[in-house]
Amino acid sequence: MHELAKNIITERIDELIKEWNFENRKSNADECICYQQGKKCHDIKNLNCFFCYCPNYDTSVKEGRCFINSPKAKYIDNHNGKILDCSDCDFPHKPENIKKLLTRRFYNFTACIKQ
Ligand code: SF4
Ligand code: SF4
Repeated sequence: MHELAKNIITERIDELIKEWNFENRKSNADECICYQQGKKCHDIKNLNCFFCYCPNYDTSVKEGRCFINSPKAKYIDNHNGKILDCSDCDFPHKPENIKKLLTRRFYNFTACIKQ
C-alpha cells in the first residue's frame, strides 16, 4: 500500500471505524440490501461494514481459502465443485479486527492476523 494511504488510514482509523458502523451507515439504502431492510448480515453488536468483503479471503485458488484458517470457515458444494463459505464468520466486521487488519497488515498477505 502507498505510504500516503497508510498515513491517512493511521490518522483517521477511529473516525473510519465509527463512520462504517452499521448504525451510522444504514441510512445509505442504495449501498446494501441489509440497509434497505434495516437488518444486519451478522447478528453482532457494533457490526462494522468497512470490510464488507473480507481481506482474509484468498481468491488465488479456485475454491477460495481463508488466510487465517478461521475455524468458522467451511466449504460447501456449489454444484461446480467446493467453495469457501464465510457466512458463519464475523471476523472482518468486528471493529478491533478492522483496526488490526488496517494497522498491521496494510494488505500484506504474508503477515496474517490470527483470530
Ligand atoms: S457488512 Fe456488507 S453486507 Fe453486511 S450490512 Fe454491511 S454493507 Fe451490508
Ligand atoms: S472465514 Fe472469516 S476471516 Fe476467513 S476469509 Fe472468511 S470471513 Fe474472512
